[in-house]
Amino acid sequence: MKIMVQKYGGTSVAGLERMRKVLSRVKKGIDEGYKMIVVLSAMSGETNKLIGLAKEFTATPDPEEMDALVANGENVSIALFSMLAKSEGIKAKSLQAWQIPISTTDAYMKARIISIDDKRLKVMLEENDVLVVAGFQGVDCKGRVTTLGRGGSDTTGVALAAAIKADVCEIYTDVDGVFTTDPRVCSAARKLDLISYDEMLELASSGSKVLQIRSVEFAKKFNVPVRVRSTFTDDPGTLVTQEDAMMEDLVISGIAFDRDQCRVTVYKVKDKPGVAAAIFGSIAEKRILVDMIIQNTSHDGYTDMTFTVSKGDLEQTMAILDGVQKDIGAESVQYDTNVAKVSVVGVGMRNHSGVASTMFKALHDENINIKLIATSEIKITCLIDEKYVELAVRALHTAFGLDKGQQAAC
Ligand code: ADP
Ligand code: ASP
Ligand code: MG
Repeated sequence: MKIMVQKYGGTSVAGLERMRKVLSRVKKGIDEGYKMIVVLSAMSGETNKLIGLAKEFTATPDPEEMDALVANGENVSIALFSMLAKSEGIKAKSLQAWQIPISTTDAYMKARIISIDDKRLKVMLEENDVLVVAGFQGVDCKGRVTTLGRGGSDTTGVALAAAIKADVCEIYTDVDGVFTTDPRVCSAARKLDLISYDEMLELASSGSKVLQIRSVEFAKKFNVPVRVRSTFTDDPGTLVTQEDAMMEDLVISGIAFDRDQCRVTVYKVKDKPGVAAAIFGSIAEKRILVDMIIQNTSHDGYTDMTFTVSKGDLEQTMAILDGVQKDIGAESVQYDTNVAKVSVVGVGMRNHSGVASTMFKALHDENINIKLIATSEIKITCLIDEKYVELAVRALHTAFGLDKGQQAAC
């Protein structure tokens, strides 16, 4: 049995005409002899609408009930699409996550997939041409509906492809593939034909929402080549795959940015063993992800700790720090929400010097102040004022030779 998994994002399923377009792609797969698994997102704007509705009822919605609510956007898409397919004589079946099941942890609103029953899926595939699966959802050990975090339908798609050992895994979206940066922010952005799992992981974790980070983790772990393409054009898109030697020729393959960041600084804590563990241990207990972490050099036995969290986690982070502030003897805790991360990513960075200095110079030339710096083997990230983020992205894009028609820096 040849199996193709296709995931379609919110704009691709927004309304009857767009669903017809999706159906014609699915039919093509069937005509080529594939059994199809089609993962759908909620129609664009629907998940936000549901979140907005919850916020009208309470400022702090219960996470378990939030998942029971927001998972419904995808339920609507799969039922409508299956109706459409059946009306054209295609053997289709809609499946919510619990009907497969896709089992997850009980971390509501950011659940992680634990297992997928691939045997049941195969049986259902044998009986149907297309299984239309709700993206973004799971079910926990208590039978409660969970969701995988914003953009989670990508992860459903890749995880299904990995579980069922699909022959093809395609992610359909509203741009032609993965670009050197968000094409909506930088018109000079170029589409990449290929990108390595590690680069895509760094871009996704730095804010490029074209793929959810967990989907790339699955792709890398189970070696699933993923093609990112547009629902609306015939461009072959971008293949996310294992690194090859050619990829190292490019120093920088992409630039990412993330406005969903806050800087938190814990001032004047004792510079002694156990302080960082106390701060970050209590934050981790609440499953909050901490990103950049910087500890200042010690002065008179005291130091400051600065880190970033996403905006949605700020309130809870501040409450936790309020609790531990006395125990660690901190003078005060302050935060700044007007910040953004900008990152340059590329495997070629490993063998090239001067990437950091090129980045700092480009930001300096635009008079943009750097608040924090963090590096990994293939990424450099700067925290800057949020209002300069688009300017920074365009300046870095040019500085690293990524603009259309420019010679890329090798
Ligand atoms: P979908 O609803 O199909 O999942 P998303 O909105 O989640 O689509 O992701 C696609 C969007 O990601 C694009 O419209 C684009 O604005 C944005 N994006 C950010 N960075 C990149 C990048 N490097 N390459 C392509 N798109 C990007
Ligand atoms: N509908 C969900 C969201 O808007 C999941 C997704 O589209 O991938 O985040
Ligand atoms: Mg998405």
